[in-house]
Amino acid sequence: MKIGILALQGDFSNHMAILEKLSVETILVKTPEDLDVDGIIIPGGESTTISMLLESSGLYGPLEVLLKGGMAAFGTCAGMILLADSVVDGRSDQVSLGGIDIVVRRNGFGRQVASFETNLDVSGITGGTVRAVFIRAPVVEKVSAAVEVLASVNYSFSGLASRPVPVICRQGKVLVSSFHPELVGEDRLHKLFLERI
Ligand code: GLN
Repeated sequence: MKIGILALQGDFSNHMAILEKLSVETILVKTPEDLDVDGIIIPGGESTTISMLLESSGLYGPLEVLLKGGMAAFGTCAGMILLADSVVDGRSDQVSLGGIDIVVRRNGFGRQVASFETNLDVSGITGGTVRAVFIRAPVVEKVSAAVEVLASVNYSFSGLASRPVPVICRQGKVLVSSFHPELVGEDRLHKLFLERI
């Protein structure tokens, strides 16, 4: 098994460290020639910048085709935005790869100062809670019936009563989280992703 990590911008090296710890063969994906892989990780970072670089590197078209063909993918934060079938509050020229039938609102939890951390119970993950770091994270506004929600947080938006917001979603071989497991060395979401390949 060989996993590609999209390495155009963002915290791809943290994902690489986790896969190396799990003894998984990895390649940093920078050009279409690097796409001979069994699955792809799209890191956190800035989705508008990654979008621009996807186009200029020639990766956008080939990657979109592979995802439509059912390639496994794991996206964290900006990676969730790029894998969502629908994005609200994106930049008008921002492209999406698609892959999971959710609607996300970019920066929906607010600005950098509204970043937060919490502990999550995650369906399918044993051995304690998952530490979740949210940095200008996307908010999942809608999930289709085909999507499993593996974890949610209760969040109060602008003083309203708190409501559960999905923060880990999966559809088939596509897994997304609105936070950064890779930043705290958490490897159990990566294992969930790898199990489906
Ligand atoms: N707000 C960023 C974006 O729009 C995502 C932030 C992150 O990946 N931590 O892409």
